[in-house]
Amino acid sequence: MSVSSAARKVAEESVIVFENLIGGKWQPASDGRTIDMVSPSDGQVFARIARGTKADVDAAVKAARHAFEEGAWSKLTATERGRLMTKLGEAILAHHEELSQLEARDCGKPMKQARADITAAARYFEFYGAAADKVHGETIPFLDGYMVTILREAKGVTGHIIPWNYPAQMFGRSLAPALAMGNAVVMKPAEEACVAPMRLAQLAQEVGFPPGALNVVTGIGEEAGAALSAHPGIAFLSFTGSPEVGTLVQKAAAENHIGCTLELGGKSPQIVFEDADFDAAVPVVVNAIVQNGGQTCSAGSRVLVQKSIYDKFVTAVTARFKQLRVGSHAMDLDCGPLISANQKKRVLGFIEQAKKDGVPVLAEAQLAEGTPGNGFYVAPVLFGPVPRENQLACEEVFGPVLSIIPFEDEADAIRLANSTDYGLVAGIWTRDGGRQMRVAKKMHCGQVFVNGYGAGGGIELPFGGVKKSGHGREKGMEALHEFSHTKTIVFKHG
Ligand code: NAD
Repeated sequence: MSVSSAARKVAEESVIVFENLIGGKWQPASDGRTIDMVSPSDGQVFARIARGTKADVDAAVKAARHAFEEGAWSKLTATERGRLMTKLGEAILAHHEELSQLEARDCGKPMKQARADITAAARYFEFYGAAADKVHGETIPFLDGYMVTILREAKGVTGHIIPWNYPAQMFGRSLAPALAMGNAVVMKPAEEACVAPMRLAQLAQEVGFPPGALNVVTGIGEEAGAALSAHPGIAFLSFTGSPEVGTLVQKAAAENHIGCTLELGGKSPQIVFEDADFDAAVPVVVNAIVQNGGQTCSAGSRVLVQKSIYDKFVTAVTARFKQLRVGSHAMDLDCGPLISANQKKRVLGFIEQAKKDGVPVLAEAQLAEGTPGNGFYVAPVLFGPVPRENQLACEEVFGPVLSIIPFEDEADAIRLANSTDYGLVAGIWTRDGGRQMRVAKKMHCGQVFVNGYGAGGGIELPFGGVKKSGHGREKGMEALHEFSHTKTIVFKHG
């Protein structure tokens, strides 16, 4: 695996080491502490990152402030920023296999998923690089003798706290729109998986991002994450992770009177009506929960099936579940391990509780022969019919556990789909055009797929939730508005 100057490979241990990127320099944590990174596939330490401190976060915010106000970054035109971002997209594609290997090892995800994630990371920089000089202001008709113009401006230094499930994609999703608008950024990636983002930061430096435009401080959530979200020099926060930490981040933002976007997960329904294209729906429904081991905020974790086709549908999904193969990232099967021993324990807790509650198990997949012994594996489980009040019908598991729930008619399906605390994504399967539109409009969520389902990807498509899934929108042109604000200038010309 090739890693260049800033990431030193410690030969005697074969461990990849990344330090913090602050003001264009790679440096250890202020107190020298580090965190071992474990590969979920085999439980082995393969990398080491800095355990960033409050002082490191402060230094990163100051470096970003300097870059934003007077450094080389502040002097770039929108076109020049866009060009740099496009170059980063190209560099990501040029290092596609190396980055995919890092991401797969770090997260345990099958290689095909890691490769798709790296392609998506590149797409974020292509998309927002091309958009950087296309965000226009406005003029407003006002009183006679006046001319009013609205500028759209960067917010300043933006803080980005990202999770471990799609580290490389999250790097692109969170940072690219902020950079396109001219903000200088400080990122705190997740301590469970962040090696590919560090390599991406290194590539950004290599393609010429000026010092301080893009800073990364790794570390523990309660330490570096809390320090970043509370820092008074931050003008806006972007957070993806758990609802509990999202609440803390939002409180910290409130103390500093700044805004934030929160993307906090979901319990997304896939609704299958009796007139659905059955053969098209089955593989998509299964993939929507198996992808990334179910560790996807927009995983389709509830399948709502019309009673008239319930038995037939359950038979088809059960058969497919039984064929699923689980193994290490390198084995590149349907499903890899979960991210950590903790996440495995959490997901097994949901499975055991559901079994104790008497929820029928329809199918359990198996670990493939040759799967390493020390990884954090949980084979996919299919439960159904899941009672509507059971926790499997309401709570986010964040693992490969699919709940099937029958419904009576359209009104019942809508009620059931909207019945959880979450509202991120919904899928609707029906051939009836009127119903497609009626049900889509009734969904309490930020994104609806009709006769399909997409978790992740879709850089062009605005994405975000309602209720406990959070607020604000990422992706698409909407993200550019989140990372900028307007300034109204009124000219009196007489
Ligand atoms: P988390 O919310 O604890 O961590 C997400 C990020 O927040 C990480 O970078 C972490 O270091 C940081 N963080 C943690 N505590 C912090 C604090 N006090 N202040 C500031 N930042 C802090 O999420 P997790 O432990 O990684 O996962 C727990 C659950 O969250 C999962 O089981 C899942 O349900 C959910 N989750 C959702 C998503 C999503 O995409 N919506 C992603 C990951 C996890």
